[in-house]
Amino acid sequence: MPKLNQTEVKSTHNKHLLILLILLILVTLFFTGFIIIYRQDLIYPPLHRDQPSPKKFVESVDQNLPDILPKPKVIEHGSRNKHQIALTFDADMTVGMLGLLQRHFVKSWYNYPIKQTLDKEGVKATVFLGGLWAKTYPNEAKDLANDPLIELGNHSYSHPAFAKNCFKLPVIDVTQKTNEVLSAQLEIERVTGVVPKYFRFPGGCYEQADVETIAKLGLKIIHWDVSANDGFNQDTNSIVRKVVNSIQNGSIVVFHIHDGPYAPKTNDALVKIIPELKKQGYQFVTISELLAN
Ligand SMILES: [Zn+2]
Repeated sequence: MPKLNQTEVKSTHNKHLLILLILLILVTLFFTGFIIIYRQDLIYPPLHRDQPSPKKFVESVDQNLPDILPKPKVIEHGSRNKHQIALTFDADMTVGMLGLLQRHFVKSWYNYPIKQTLDKEGVKATVFLGGLWAKTYPNEAKDLANDPLIELGNHSYSHPAFAKNCFKLPVIDVTQKTNEVLSAQLEIERVTGVVPKYFRFPGGCYEQADVETIAKLGLKIIHWDVSANDGFNQDTNSIVRKVVNSIQNGSIVVFHIHDGPYAPKTNDALVKIIPELKKQGYQFVTISELLAN
């Protein structure tokens, strides 16, 4: 083995130092990254000495949810002891529906006479808006939001199916579900200034895991116990009969406010239903009022 001279020894020494330095930098970067990704509680100081940091708090709530809080559920009706009912109207807007509108195959996806009927009768109601519906009809959405008789809810962004076999709606991937809910929430707030407190699944279809997902987003899930069967229904009287014969104290009735070929007779039925239910002494309330007690 040849003997190294003084300069060569120095150069090898420098090389080793450089490698050591690079290794040191890499190790530091690795642990910094680890801290940023996994230990945000170390970066963000606790709000208070005795309180856990927000992230830890959220984790502890999530983990203990089944033990300390009642399991999130889908609400189908209010109290059966009060002579109150909630009329609800879904404003669906799928990408396909928007396409039909843009190509003028459908004149409108808003049944404005329903709002006129509610106003004329002084009847309160809750309207579940699709995010895409609010985006398409911003003035109409604002008009609904400004009506003191009307409460707004969230009906997803593009009205996809959250579970299989849901009225031929396209089923979305589980990773898209939160996005559907939050996008609608943001769009409705952007257009109307209202932050919905309630969510209704498109077609009323869901898996149990979806119920947990929505609850964690802070929204209450509203289903129904009376379906008006007004979707794709040309028979006004069958809608009237269905609602009047099924209604009881605390009922949540689902109608559709998007008109067109998908819900053509809703208002015609409504003008007959409301006077009949008034005659029976029912009080019409919003979802918030129905669930208040
Ligand atoms: Zn719907």
